[in-house]
Amino acid sequence: MLYKILPNLSNIQFNHFNSLKIRLTFGIALLSALGLGSVALWMNWKMENLLMTTHKQTVNYVANRFPHDVEIYSEMVSLEMGIQKTINNLSDHKNIYWFQDNNKKIIAKSLIFSPQLTTINNINSIPKVINIDNQYWIICGMPLNINNKLLGHLYIAQNISNEKVLFAHLINSLTIANIMAITIMIIAIVLYISYSLKPLEKICTVAENISADKLKEVSINFHNTPNEVKKLAESLEKMLIRLGESWENQQQLLSNVSHELRTPLTIVSGYLQSTLRRGDNLTSIQKEALSVAVSEADRTVQLLEDLLDLARADNGNIQMKMEIIIVNDLIREIIAIAEQYSGRKINLTEENCDIKIKVDQNRFKQICLNLIDNAIKYSSKDTEIDIKLKRNKSAIIEIIDRGIGIPLALQNKIFERFYRVDEARNRQTGGTGLGLAIVKTLVSTMDGKITLISQPEKGSIFTLTFPSI
Ligand code: ADP
Repeated sequence: MLYKILPNLSNIQFNHFNSLKIRLTFGIALLSALGLGSVALWMNWKMENLLMTTHKQTVNYVANRFPHDVEIYSEMVSLEMGIQKTINNLSDHKNIYWFQDNNKKIIAKSLIFSPQLTTINNINSIPKVINIDNQYWIICGMPLNINNKLLGHLYIAQNISNEKVLFAHLINSLTIANIMAITIMIIAIVLYISYSLKPLEKICTVAENISADKLKEVSINFHNTPNEVKKLAESLEKMLIRLGESWENQQQLLSNVSHELRTPLTIVSGYLQSTLRRGDNLTSIQKEALSVAVSEADRTVQLLEDLLDLARADNGNIQMKMEIIIVNDLIREIIAIAEQYSGRKINLTEENCDIKIKVDQNRFKQICLNLIDNAIKYSSKDTEIDIKLKRNKSAIIEIIDRGIGIPLALQNKIFERFYRVDEARNRQTGGTGLGLAIVKTLVSTMDGKITLISQPEKGSIFTLTFPSI
């Protein structure tokens, strides 16, 4: 189970890390933290250096003065007393001195003295920092020569605990200030990146939502955006305009060709039909050939008419004469027409009230006839076709057949142009594969909606929904 989850998890994390916003934020946060750490380390080192330098200066001063003072005092008192007096003179609360003779015995020391200091080994002339009971000391030692005679070693310890504490406070405050500055900077950067990337999101939305007929109307106007994004937006806009022009040309060509072909083909069909009607002296083979020619010509005329409708809809030139109609009456009329040409029985179920909608009457008829025609074509003769009229907030018209049905995966596709579920099987039923595409376009032009519920071998329910009045 875990191995199934883990790849998904890593996928999610990887996808997140692919985001420019997260990468930049993470990168900046990491660099800032590294920078902050380095500054803290550098300051610590610098501070210790500073203290060492001060200490060295004190040591130098003492090294020069101590033997001289001892000499002066020893003229008046004993040597040991002289050393003690000199130490007393130099000592203060921060600087502690002690003197050990050549046998390591402490001969003189400051009044304030920390005995642990004498336990430290290897004290020499190079100052070093040590920690005794949370007190920090810089400590060093030097030989004491008087009259060219080595008397012992003088040790100097300077308490730097206060400086250390002060410095730690300083570093803490600096760290807090830096963390706050980095947080504010990260928030500002995230906001700025989001703001800068907004045009890209806008471009995506435009690209996702634009319809073929609106290609030329798109205007991606970006003020105050980075030049690179602006350039991308401008290129996209130019590309959409070019696409829009070629789409318009294509639609124009389609519309012209359909229009030019429809008239002569209608005439051809008319002549063929009249020849067939009057052709008493025609052989059965000739009659069959003529009827095939008539049906193919009619099919092609229908195809051209469908194409013209779609081209008009795409160009926004479809004319709608919107009027309020009573659906119940119109549906009864439509059922009568369908029953007459198909010879099939169509049952109507309606509620006991008139349902009014605002549509173009002819286009509404075209929609219903198209759906009923499909119900007839894709169901066997012995099955029933039902039409149900309902009304809740909207007017609902259901066209129900018990025919071959449509697999779930293809239910969206059948509304696409020229899509037919089974080309070989559908060829026998005639049709062009444009009917449902036109139905969908007409329905949405009249503010309606079409939905489908279908199950293979059980049948289909096409539902039209229009705002009721
Ligand atoms: P056609 O001219 O082929 O009927 P349509 O656009 O009207 O074109 O329908 C597209 C395809 O959807 C049809 O070819 C058919 O396969 C399927 N179809 C449409 N209506 C039904 C239905 N009531 N039952 C089963 N299949 C249908």
